Amino acid sequence: MTPDELRKSVLGVKRWSRSDQRAPNKPLMMAYVLAKYVQGHKQMFSYEDEVDRDLHALLKRFGPSRKVYHPEYPFWRLLNDGIWRLDNAEECLPRKSNTDPPKSELIKHGVTAGFSDDAFALLKNDTKFSMELLERILTDSFPESIIPEITAQLGLEFTFKKITKRDPNFRREVLRAYNYQCAVCGYDLRMDDISVGLEAAHIKWKQFHGPCDVSNGLTLCAVHHKAFDKGAYTITEDFKIKLSESLNGGVQVERLFFDFEGKAIRLPIKDNWLPNVQYLNWHQKEVFK
Ligand SMILES: [Zn+2]
Repeated sequence: MTPDELRKSVLGVKRWSRSDQRAPNKPLMMAYVLAKYVQGHKQMFSYEDEVDRDLHALLKRFGPSRKVYHPEYPFWRLLNDGIWRLDNAEECLPRKSNTDPPKSELIKHGVTAGFSDDAFALLKNDTKFSMELLERILTDSFPESIIPEITAQLGLEFTFKKITKRDPNFRREVLRAYNYQCAVCGYDLRMDDISVGLEAAHIKWKQFHGPCDVSNGLTLCAVHHKAFDKGAYTITEDFKIKLSESLNGGVQVERLFFDFEGKAIRLPIKDNWLPNVQYLNWHQKEVFK
């Protein structure tokens, strides 16, 4: 296996974003393993002692809200992508509904997993290559605003320097449509005529084919942008602010969030700039916690 073949295979795992539904299981599994390799971890990872706890935490924090999280799915299913190795897997009995085993079987037989021998040979002494793959995986699945938090949880400093191309018109058009004010709180600091701390957010993420169009944009201050991408709140079909039940904090959080609960956002002046309900629904379903 050459580095190029491995790169292709890892990016070929990108099956998860073919549909609109977020399924960050495999990306987060691979990102976790790559981050650990950079930190000197051995090839194989124990399901019971490591992945069950660590990947569960990552899925809960950065994946869409679910009743139950399944770190065992990518741990097992990456085998189908040709870059993965499972040990002690032979005796695992499958679940009733599928060919892969429940987590109880993984624990019972002490199953371990990691990148295949060929892949690991390329990765283990090449931090730069591991980091490159990690970056590609994360930028394919998550908006920029969240990636530093993921890398921090993976035990790494955020050092990606790649300049991603963005649609220069998107920011300008969205800020203009919302009259250079945060749609949630109205924040509009300017230094002379330059806005400070205002951002154009995508409602439906670019990573899931959300367009760079005003109807898929919101002008938000940096705080409300980050909180929106984390699913701390969403916007309902009638353009009202709905907060996640997980929110808590002191006086400032009350001012920045609880005071706006159930209130309408500041809408753009023209009707064809209104947020598209289809994109709002996607955010509510796939991002909102
Ligand atoms: Zn704001």
